[in-house]
Formats: sequence, structure tokens, C-alpha cells
Amino acid sequence: MAKIKKTPVIVVLGHVDHGKTSLLDNIRKTNLAKKEEGGITQSIGAWRAQVKGRSITFIDTPGHSAFSQMRSRGAKVADIAILVVAADDSVMPQTKEAIKIIESAGIPFIVAVTKTDLPGADLEKVKADLARENIIVEEYGGQVVMIPVSNKTGQGIEELLEMLVLTYEVQPIKVELNRPADGFILETQFNKRRGKLVSLIVSRGKLKKGDILLCQDIKAKVRALYDDNGRVVSEVEAGRPAQVWGFNQLPQIGDVFQVIDKGDLKLSKKVDSFMLGLDQLVSSELNKIDKTKVIPIFLKAKTKGALEAIASNLPKEVKVVYQAVGDVTESEIGLAVNFGVEIITFQIQPKPSILTLAQNEGVVLKNYNIIYEILEDFEKKVLKLLEPTIDQNILARAKIVKIFNIKDKQIAGCHVIEGDLNLADKVELIRQDKIIGKSKIISLRIGSELKEKVKQGDECGLMVKPKLDFKEGDMLCSYKE
Ligand code: GDP
Repeated sequence: MAKIKKTPVIVVLGHVDHGKTSLLDNIRKTNLAKKEEGGITQSIGAWRAQVKGRSITFIDTPGHSAFSQMRSRGAKVADIAILVVAADDSVMPQTKEAIKIIESAGIPFIVAVTKTDLPGADLEKVKADLARENIIVEEYGGQVVMIPVSNKTGQGIEELLEMLVLTYEVQPIKVELNRPADGFILETQFNKRRGKLVSLIVSRGKLKKGDILLCQDIKAKVRALYDDNGRVVSEVEAGRPAQVWGFNQLPQIGDVFQVIDKGDLKLSKKVDSFMLGLDQLVSSELNKIDKTKVIPIFLKAKTKGALEAIASNLPKEVKVVYQAVGDVTESEIGLAVNFGVEIITFQIQPKPSILTLAQNEGVVLKNYNIIYEILEDFEKKVLKLLEPTIDQNILARAKIVKIFNIKDKQIAGCHVIEGDLNLADKVELIRQDKIIGKSKIISLRIGSELKEKVKQGDECGLMVKPKLDFKEGDMLCSYKE
């Protein structure tokens, strides 16, 4: 595919008050790309200058906080940096920070020594101080180009710009234009008249009106595109800034965006219609159940086998209205919010962003690592749900997990789910919500040890008199008359 030279993107860095804004103002005054009729003069965070017939984009962020923020987000934002050092103040703490940022970005740079018109200007000190930071200028036998300038008189600025073009020409960045665009967000603003506007710089490809942008998880259609003169344009090439209208939600400054190509667009449409389909499916499943008698849940697990194992062992009062393999997605949280259903995951630790979203939206999202714990928790919930229908004076509930027949004695191996069981407690045997027998505990053991009391969470063996027809899965409830 044919490649062309990208419009270089320049960032100006340096210590506060060393003259970054003044330098940018000077360049803008003398070299601003010609304004078109009717253009809006409002800044969009970057603008283009013309130097010897070449277009250069300047990021209009005095100071480097925005730049370092962008760096920390992994975006390679600028192609060349200008390191500003005031001749009367030399290397200062933020100069050193700027050097670190430039080095970590791995981009070429030029030193502009400002305020050379001042009596206290000392170029030799600046060179020596820079050398201490391992920035060796040409006069010291190094590679770094240093240009003395004055923002007051304008001296040296043209030379600086020519050097900038030269530096770029030595190692220009070539980009394909016929590819979906990507880049980064420069500024966001909310304008009463025009709504949400997002300034960005295209890094590769060509951004066109009608494109669909993906920026983290924000999707936006480019409904209108403005250039740095506020002109309506139909496309913007790599290295140029633009303002986009069409975002419903504002992205973060420094976020990387990319245009979704046609294939992905189809996919994202599919995802949308898939979610719509799911919405209908879940709603029809929920219509079939009575929420006062049945607990609806969403179930997520790593494998289909696990989903089936859990779903088939849950109490019949728990209905899985939606199940899927894989991580919990934002859309699923959205679905859970809409329908007020909790999400149960099995051996899937949801991502922190998903957990935060669930918390903010008030969705119960619980991960289990053992199937047995899911079943136990839901047995408890079902009992609570059914509470009004059974005796109000229940003291404890125990599930019969195993039956031992030793000689003529029958021992129920129980798991105490709620409350404490005591020797001599009266109990009811419950099967499928029906009381099928009543008796009294005559023996309680944990292992071989006889007990007077067993507590919630304990596994115990018990005997009752008169004998009851125990079955595994039955529930024993002790009660007060
Ligand atoms: P920034 O904080 O790095 O953006 O610095 P500014 O551009 O705001 O400049 C800080 C101050 O230094 C302002 O009062 C400017 O007028 C002054 N200044 C900037 N560059 C020069 C220069 O080359 N010569 C002189 N004499 N003053 C300058």
C-alpha cells in the first residue's frame, strides 16, 4: 500500500515560565496556516503552521502534564519535541522531567533557548547544565541541536522552525492513508450550542465523516468533522488535528481511538442485535416465573459443562434466566440492571472495571469457586423465600447429606445450614417444601464425639425418635412450639 509522509506533530515542553506559551504564540502569529473564510477561531487544542511550504501540527498544551498523561496511557502522541530552556534560568526541575518524558517517548527533539534578549542570558551555563543531564549539544561535540531564540524580538524563531522541518525530513514518519484511522484524544468540551465536541489528532490513516470510532468502550459515529480552522471537512489525514461531533459520552483526554472497519462494524451491529435478542429472551423467561416464589439468576462459567452442572443442581426455586460461557461483560451488567437479577459467576473473577460498574449500578455480582457453595447459598435463600409458608418458629435448619444404617439404627449425616441444633430438639422432616414427619433428636455427634449442640456450618450425625423416613436431600428443621 502506498505510504505518504505524515504531518509531523510537535509538542513543546519545559519548565514553567521559560517561555513555552510565548514561543507557540510567536509561531502561530507568523506561521499559522491561512485561515479560511468563516472559520471559527476557537482553539481545538492543536493547530497547524506552515514552514517552507510544509505543514506542521503543534499541540497547544503549555506545560507537559497533558503530554505525560498521554504518555502514561501508552499513546505515542508527538513526533518531535521542542525542549524550552530559559537562558537566564537554565535547567530547572521541570526541564529534567521534560527530558525524561522525551527520552521515554523515544522521539527526536530540539532545544530552544528562550529569553536570549535578557541581560542575564547565559548560553554557556545552559549548555553545561544540559550536559549534566546527558544532553550534549553540537558545540560540545554531541548530536543535540540548540537554537537561541527571543520571544520578545522574534529572533531565532524562523531558524528554529527550519531546523524542525530539517529534523523531520531526516527521519520522516511514513503512514498509509488507506487504512482505518487511529489516534488520540486531545481535548473534550461541552458546548451549549453544539453539544459534546471532542478534539483529537489522527496518528495513522484518514478519519472520515461517517466513520465509527471506538475509544476504550465508547463508540461514536463521526457525524461532523471540523479542522483546526473550524471548517467543516469530510476527512482528516494523519498528523492533523480535528474536532468531532457525534460522541454521546465524552472519552478521556489521552485515550487512544480507532476506527472500526467494515467487518468490525458488522460485528458490532451483530453484537447490538444479539444484545437486543437477549433482552427479549430474558424478559420472556422472567415473564414465566413468579418472582415471589422463584429466584432468577444470570449464570456465568468457564465451560458449558460447569454451567450445566450448576443449573441442574440448583433448587427448583432458582431459575437461570440467562447463562453464558466467559467473562462478565458490561452489556450483561446492563441486562442485570434492567431486570434486577443477580449475576453468579463460577471460577471467573470479574475484572475490576466490571466489579466497579456492578457496584455503581447496584448489581449483585458474586463469584464462587466451589459448586457446593453456590448450591448451599441458594438453598438458604430459597428457605428464606419460602419462610412465610412454613412454621415461623424454626430454630435451625439442617440438610441431610448422607444416611448411614448401622445395625437397626439410622443416622442422618447433616449439614447445619442455619441456626444451632440441640439435643432433644423437636424436628420436622421437610421434603419438597412439605412436612412429611415430626420427631425429636435423641443423639448428636460430630465425628465420634457426642455433642449437646451443633452449630451453623457444622457437619453432624444425628438420630431421632420416633424414626423418620430420611432421604438424602431432605431438610430437618428444629422448631419451638
Ligand atoms: P510558560 O510558562 O513556559 O508558557 O512561559 P510563558 O510563555 O508564559 O512566559 C513567561 C514569561 O516570560 C512571560 O512574562 C513572557 O512574556 C516572558 N518571556 C517568554 N519568553 C521570553 C523571551 O524570549 N524574552 C523575554 N524577555 N521574555 C520572555
